[in-house]
Amino acid sequence: MDERTARTADPAAGREVGRGGERLSRRETPLDLTPEEFVEIGHRLVDDVAELLAGLRTRPLTRGETPAEIRALLDADAPLPEEGMEAGPLLQHATELLVEHSLYNAHPRFFGYITAGPAPIGILGDLLASAVNPNLGAWTLSPMASEMEQQAVRWIAELVGFPSGGDGVLTSGGNVANMLGFFAGRVTRSGWDVRERGMRAPDATSLRAYASRGTHTWIQKAADLSGLGVDSIRWIETDATERMRVDALRDAIEEDETAGHRPFLVVGTGGSVSTGAVDPLAELRGVCDEHDLWFHVDGAYGAFAAAAPNAPDDLRDLALADSVALDPHKWLYAPLEAGCTLVRDPSALLAAFSYRPDYYHFDQEEAKNFFERGVQNSRGFRALKVWLQLRQAGRAGYARMIADDIELARRFHELADKHPLLEPIGHALSITTYRFVPADLVGRTSEPEVGAYLDELNREIQSRMERGGDAFVSNAVLAGRYVLRMCIVNFRTTLEDVERLAEITVALGEEADTMLRPAELRPAAVG
Ligand SMILES: *Cc1c(COP(=O)(O)O)cnc(C)c1O
Repeated sequence: MDERTARTADPAAGREVGRGGERLSRRETPLDLTPEEFVEIGHRLVDDVAELLAGLRTRPLTRGETPAEIRALLDADAPLPEEGMEAGPLLQHATELLVEHSLYNAHPRFFGYITAGPAPIGILGDLLASAVNPNLGAWTLSPMASEMEQQAVRWIAELVGFPSGGDGVLTSGGNVANMLGFFAGRVTRSGWDVRERGMRAPDATSLRAYASRGTHTWIQKAADLSGLGVDSIRWIETDATERMRVDALRDAIEEDETAGHRPFLVVGTGGSVSTGAVDPLAELRGVCDEHDLWFHVDGAYGAFAAAAPNAPDDLRDLALADSVALDPHKWLYAPLEAGCTLVRDPSALLAAFSYRPDYYHFDQEEAKNFFERGVQNSRGFRALKVWLQLRQAGRAGYARMIADDIELARRFHELADKHPLLEPIGHALSITTYRFVPADLVGRTSEPEVGAYLDELNREIQSRMERGGDAFVSNAVLAGRYVLRMCIVNFRTTLEDVERLAEITVALGEEADTMLRPAELRPAAVG
């Protein structure tokens, strides 16, 4: 385009070009960095990250700051600056804010929820992934990266013993991974063209999904988003070890069939979020076969433990599922975010999600396009960190790390059992639940006032621990009791960390007990 046409096409741009064509020929933009600047700033960042990783054990797990304190540090209400600033000091500022005011789930005594610390090669992988920036929506836009995702997905299937020959895709996390399985089940078992007619079909209100009471809240979101409504979930009772009761499942399905409803899906959990319970997956498969239902396994927490020799055998029956959700950002220790859905039938994800618009010129035959296998269109390269980590540690490496996490949680259960002031509640996979019980109340835990006080006391221990920054646990409510819950998905955690957790719990428990104990529960004054 010469200057004259530019001027007529766009007067504003034309003025610029008219004044000096170089400004658009050799653009100096406020976002670019020279190679020298990039090296300097980048090396500094790598140094800072290395220092952070090396110091994890000694820095506070969290500083327990309030939302108001954090917002003040950030100057959270500041408007968007009109002018930019230099990249080096800016990145330094962000590094300081984050390094000094974050909670570190990679800290060896972070036992909360189910959140892993990132593997170093995964951190570097994310940098490389962003630099190449392939769009894994389509193979054409990400030739090598798309093949690496396919390979990573296949390796994940191999690691947990899921049959080859199916399909799979990485997702943002376990919630979406589970939802893809739910939607695949809905499409193939609803009995009408649910994608075309949605929930306006006459049969639509009759669909029923079955899941145990311990199922994670992704299922409410899936029922809601799919238009079925949360009412379509039948909650199945669990036994004393939190596993779904197969007899109750059978009864519920038969009752619904008799009433004219249409069961379509059973969700088995391979490691429940509260206690690590594994449903009797082979039996659930049997029930699904009897009634022609889709069998989905939520393995977001536990599935990878199928690779470890000391995991319950039931877990390996996830290989019988139609779909499985897994979470590489949990027990593969990948940086957030990475989830994964595996399906047995290679056409299941396409059946649920594929549309082929005419504005896409993508080869549909020789290569896999991930945009038609899930809810995302443009997709980032989360596969790289997963691929690198699987390749670095290998199958045997993962089997060992996961087995050690399980063993450490078991050791903690043993420690709690031996300690006069700790009461172990349960242990499954790498979760142990327990609570602090003052010595003089040990024999009285079934009294209602004592039970209520122990709930309050353990809640207080958890809050104090969170603020203290030396260890972090979460909680569970089991049989009406508020209990502490420690979960290890952390290859940095050692036996000493687990022993230290017991000491910290007892110290905080004794401290809180002296402050909180109501008069009527105080030991009778001696003499
Ligand atoms: C963590 C978890 C989820 C949700 O996974 P996100 O990665 O947090 O989205 C679902 N189910 C179970 C059993 C989980 O442990």
